[in-house]
Amino acid sequence: MEQYYHSIYFDEEKCNGRMRCMRVCPTQAIRIRNGKAKMIEERCIDCGECTTTCPQNAILPLTDSFSELSKFKYNIAIPSPALYAQFGREILPDKVLEGVRKIGFDEAYDVALACGSVSFAIQEYIRDYKGQKPLISNSCPVIVRLIQVKYPELIDLIIPIEPPREIAAREMKKGKSKKLGLKEEEIGAIYLTPCPAKMISIKQPAEGGKSHLDGAISIADVYAPLLSAMEGLNKREYKQSLENICIVGIAWSIAGGICRTLRLKNSLGVSGLSHVIKIFDDVVSGKLKNIDFVEAYACIEGCVGGSLTVENIYISYNKILKLIETLELRKNKACPDIREIRRLYKEDYFFIREKINPRPLKPLAENISDAIKKMKEKDEIYQSLPKIDCGVCGSPTCLAFAEDVVKGEAKISDCILISSEKFLKIKQVSRKGEN
Ligand code: SF4
Ligand code: SF4
Repeated sequence: MEQYYHSIYFDEEKCNGRMRCMRVCPTQAIRIRNGKAKMIEERCIDCGECTTTCPQNAILPLTDSFSELSKFKYNIAIPSPALYAQFGREILPDKVLEGVRKIGFDEAYDVALACGSVSFAIQEYIRDYKGQKPLISNSCPVIVRLIQVKYPELIDLIIPIEPPREIAAREMKKGKSKKLGLKEEEIGAIYLTPCPAKMISIKQPAEGGKSHLDGAISIADVYAPLLSAMEGLNKREYKQSLENICIVGIAWSIAGGICRTLRLKNSLGVSGLSHVIKIFDDVVSGKLKNIDFVEAYACIEGCVGGSLTVENIYISYNKILKLIETLELRKNKACPDIREIRRLYKEDYFFIREKINPRPLKPLAENISDAIKKMKEKDEIYQSLPKIDCGVCGSPTCLAFAEDVVKGEAKISDCILISSEKFLKIKQVSRKGEN
């Protein structure tokens, strides 16, 4: 099995096995064994649902710290547009970017412009595309992993265009390397992230290969230093003018933002994993063939709802809408040149080179005949279980428990509700699971 990097970790000392994490996990990636939560590596999609649910604070996000900056000669911060929604409405992106420079970065790049370019590239792709629909956005790493694990049949619908953060890092490094006479590896591109999930897309991109980003620091970690760095800033110090902030790109931080600003016809914005799962079920059953594009985010209301943000989700959402309105009123013109985008698009500037593959789950057995036998055993065990999915056995459902037993990862006796008569019957079916 492949090794998977994850952006969360379980603190066994704090875990008291209360099962809340197991119940919310959308891919059944958690088991409770010996009173402690354990992750099934290949199933975890780094959605962070378990981290926000755990009352013990025993599941923690993994992001980089400021010490990451010391590895490079020149550091560029690439903040998620969700960062702009963390402060008072009077604090506009030009001030935030200047504050980011003050907290230790040599440069702060407004990723909204790259978001704007990618939005138009997506528009081009949808226009040219003739295959099965709807196409699905790939900017949320959790959504891509959800498809790899739970909906492999939808992989070819993922739009194969690099997310804006990657394009921004790639181009900034190229440009700065030329300008400063530094090697690209001497330049650090650090994402200021609203979620731990972005870490996995940097450390282990879903399509393989290497990320152009070098790390990610959480918005929650930069919030306090940034707030004090912005105090007393003088507008004349700002290196980035508000006129250069792209309206289309700002909308990437909220659910449905791309559809909304590009006025894509027949598109759908969906956020929150349970809603995304319902929509994907409909896509699989062919109910949404009339939709061209699904813009999907794991977090409620999009990246403004990321678990590493500070501001309330709905307040942030409204701040982004207000910011778009403000920039529109100022007749902000910073928008990528669509003719230039078309030229770059034809030169494959935006495309992901590698193919995304499904993520294989551990099979019941190594060879097919053993797997068929185990499948039969699993069915027989399942038929004997109470089918109430209580979770007391440490598996999220009775079906998952039956599978765990035949894989030798749980014992029949872990089910406390099974009658002794049935228990003996199952023991005959699955002696291995009992060992
Ligand atoms: S991060 Fe998400 S997928 Fe991974 S174990 Fe937690 S709830 Fe499950
Ligand atoms: S929707 Fe949430 S998990 Fe997905 S990229 Fe945005 S903040 Fe991260």
